[in-house]
Amino acid sequence: MKRHFVIDCDTAEDDIMSLFMLIRNGVSVEGVTIVEGNISYEQEINNALWALEFIKREDIKVYPGSDRPLVKNFRSVEEVHGKGGIGDKIVKPQKLRAENKKAVDAIVELADRYAGKLEFLAISPLTNLALAYLKDKSIVDKIKKVWVMGGTVWGRGNITPVAEYNIWVDPDAAKIVFNSGFNITMVPWDVIVNYPVDDDTWEKIKRMGTQMSKFYVEIYSHYREYSMKNEKIGGTPHPDLITTAVALNKDVIKKSEKYYVDVENCDCLTRGMTVIDYLSIWKKEPNVEVVYEINKGKFLEMLFDLLNWF
Ligand code: CA
Repeated sequence: MKRHFVIDCDTAEDDIMSLFMLIRNGVSVEGVTIVEGNISYEQEINNALWALEFIKREDIKVYPGSDRPLVKNFRSVEEVHGKGGIGDKIVKPQKLRAENKKAVDAIVELADRYAGKLEFLAISPLTNLALAYLKDKSIVDKIKKVWVMGGTVWGRGNITPVAEYNIWVDPDAAKIVFNSGFNITMVPWDVIVNYPVDDDTWEKIKRMGTQMSKFYVEIYSHYREYSMKNEKIGGTPHPDLITTAVALNKDVIKKSEKYYVDVENCDCLTRGMTVIDYLSIWKKEPNVEVVYEINKGKFLEMLFDLLNWF
């Protein structure tokens, strides 16, 4: 059975490869929605359109969403992904343009059209999904699954000592989404850091010579260097892409647990921290499947399949 996805992006390199992985695996991408995050909002839109042109999928629609969090201020992270989100290079689509329809309306309409079948891949702050939910709460029952790249399980963050970027940017939206009743699987930052593309694999990819492998090396070089130097990671991290692989194939999950998870949305030291009630102290119904371990071999298999596409 064909799977139907909306992919929500703050389009940097890992968002682009996630979009490609969905398409490579036969998913029907019903929309790419754009939200505030990694880099300038306009460039996020341009990157998504440019990426679709690269794989000649001009039929896929890009919907502009929110360009700011619900309540809080945030900052983009050009130091991590480069000014262009794929390094410092600034790209533009040749002819594709974003839709006039806004992401919030597109999400509500698509949830209706594919009721019970639509899956939402949130590899970005959760503002668009929270807004769509506030507009029409019935999407909770219509969206079959929400896959979230975000949060931490051990309290080891990347934007603050304890918070992961996507959740930190809009903790109010994340709190709404986590407490709404969506069927959520969460892939945390301090889990995915254990599965980077290491030096041997990076060199192997460099030798592949496919168009996709060259594209990959080009768009990830900045992020790889930054992460290895500043985040103590032994290679290129793939938060979005691992989450996408998890969404596509349950075998990518090696270990997960269902817990009640809430989000700290105060303006405080722990803003954006995901609070996991691992002892059921609050006696609340578990709302999130939390991924703790990844089957790295399976993920790499999917990555190489993507890099061998063309
Ligand atoms: Ca992202």
